[in-house]
Amino acid sequence: MKAALRYRVAVLDPHQHLWAVTLEIDRPAARQRLSLPVWIPGSYLVREFSQHLQSLGAQCGHHAVALQQLDKNSWEVRLLQDAGAAPLRLHYEVHAFDASVRTAFLDQTRGFFNPTSLCLRVHGREQEVHALELVDNAHTAGWEAATGLSPNRIDARGYGLYLAADCDELADCPVEMGRFWSGSFEVRGVPHRLVVGGAGAGADCERLLRDAQRICETQIAFWHGPDSQPPFKRYLFLLHASQDGYGGLEHRNSTALICQRADLPRRALKGEAAIAAQPKAGDGYTTLLGLISHEYFHTWNVKRLRPHEFRRYDYERENYTELLWFFEGFTSYYDDLLLLRAGLIDESTYLELLSKTVNQVLQTPGRQVQSVAQASFDAWVKYYRSDANTPNATVSYYSKGALVALCLDLTLRAEGHASLDDVMRVLMRRCEAGPMREADLLAVLKQLGRRSYADEIAAWVHGTDELPLAELLQRHGLQWSQESASLAQRLGLRVSENGGLTLKHVLRDGAAEAAGLAPGDEWLGVELDPTPASGETMAWRVRKLDEVALYAAGHSALTALVARDGRLLRCRLRWPAPVQQVKIQREVMPSTAADERRWLQE
Ligand SMILES: [Zn+2]
Repeated sequence: MKAALRYRVAVLDPHQHLWAVTLEIDRPAARQRLSLPVWIPGSYLVREFSQHLQSLGAQCGHHAVALQQLDKNSWEVRLLQDAGAAPLRLHYEVHAFDASVRTAFLDQTRGFFNPTSLCLRVHGREQEVHALELVDNAHTAGWEAATGLSPNRIDARGYGLYLAADCDELADCPVEMGRFWSGSFEVRGVPHRLVVGGAGAGADCERLLRDAQRICETQIAFWHGPDSQPPFKRYLFLLHASQDGYGGLEHRNSTALICQRADLPRRALKGEAAIAAQPKAGDGYTTLLGLISHEYFHTWNVKRLRPHEFRRYDYERENYTELLWFFEGFTSYYDDLLLLRAGLIDESTYLELLSKTVNQVLQTPGRQVQSVAQASFDAWVKYYRSDANTPNATVSYYSKGALVALCLDLTLRAEGHASLDDVMRVLMRRCEAGPMREADLLAVLKQLGRRSYADEIAAWVHGTDELPLAELLQRHGLQWSQESASLAQRLGLRVSENGGLTLKHVLRDGAAEAAGLAPGDEWLGVELDPTPASGETMAWRVRKLDEVALYAAGHSALTALVARDGRLLRCRLRWPAPVQQVKIQREVMPSTAADERRWLQE
């Protein structure tokens, strides 16, 4: 049966970065409304994709039809009574030159798009089958195409016709085109494919494929035990390697990922020894594996189990939820933990990654201003619109949410009745892999933990007090020690050192704030008080923060010379006491705690 809604997407001009789209609608409404989404699920910011749509026209049979634009992203077509049986045909172009996973891109090397950027939604017809044809033309010679949509009639390179059961499925299936490395594996009979575009010849994509397979096997076993099937028929990783990009966006049976080219594993050069087996905490490859693990975990946690407010996405406006601390935070907790359980990183690397997350939260003054539930609700105007004041006013629902998961897991395990793993699986069943409320989590915690966890959720999720991390980790045989924090942290600053020292953030109640330094200041130099020995005032030019320490050693105060808005300011800076950061390690003596239920192993 022919789909009544048919999209046709072709490369119009790669140098102009233009996609050409036609949309045919059988049996259109007399006043047919069409719109482009203003946001893409998974990325909580109104992005106004219609900004890039141009040259929209409509025809019915051989006649042009009048189109009226209703607002920033919707249009209405009014059809004459005698339009007859001819389909309504819309044609338009979309400019695509944003190399992120959230929108669309096109040049002579590759094409990428989310249907939220290219496919006008046909109002009133959202539940029907949507067909998408990927057109192979002179611009795509030698290119392949890949997407998570169901193929209907495609050629060996992936061009041709795909079908989506409804508009949500179409919106949830990005498309990549270009020349790419491609590999595949099966987990429990479910085919998984990895395509990598933009990699250098030295990239070891086979190793990446093997490691991705271990992540998938570990996660399917996590959710489904030893033998049942995952909730998708096939899965696709679309990875684009770039000079300095980074990001991922989850979808129901695929994910679009961007990594740095240098972070891909390398093949040994001729005559060179084999590359080390396990990546370490600072390695880009560890970050890439963590990203793959994160987005794959979302296949269950946010694409199936999802906030009650996302039971149906509203593509026209912000979709508010307080639950991103659960869906992003718990996913962040499990992304690295499952790398450890898959054997891809070792325990000391895992604990280094965990220490980093703890320090990120403890070095964010905004954790005392905003709860993670508020941070979730405000994601649309705060997390996704970060500015110089962000660390002072907000907390990340990713990092603090991950620590809430850690605290819950360690508390459950210490009390001996369940783990957070059990909670996730029972929650999935209770909510039938669908919409969830906070009350569902509380109910499952009570059922499995055999007591109410309402006080913990109130304090950790809806409050701003510190989490009881040190105490919980110590109960599980881990040592919570302190080490010196960076100079920037000591001064209460975050800086950029590209061609000069520029202040990005001035942290609440820090020494830099007390001195009157402000975000955007260019720190030009330091002036030191005369010492009794020399009696001489010394002044130095600085380009890096480390030089401030070099020149100021032995002084309790200095004058910072900064440029702001064309003026030179002298700011008196009192040198602060050293500050500490956290380091989490395995205790040298094995723990005798009986409540340690193999947290890092199972
Ligand atoms: Zn995420």
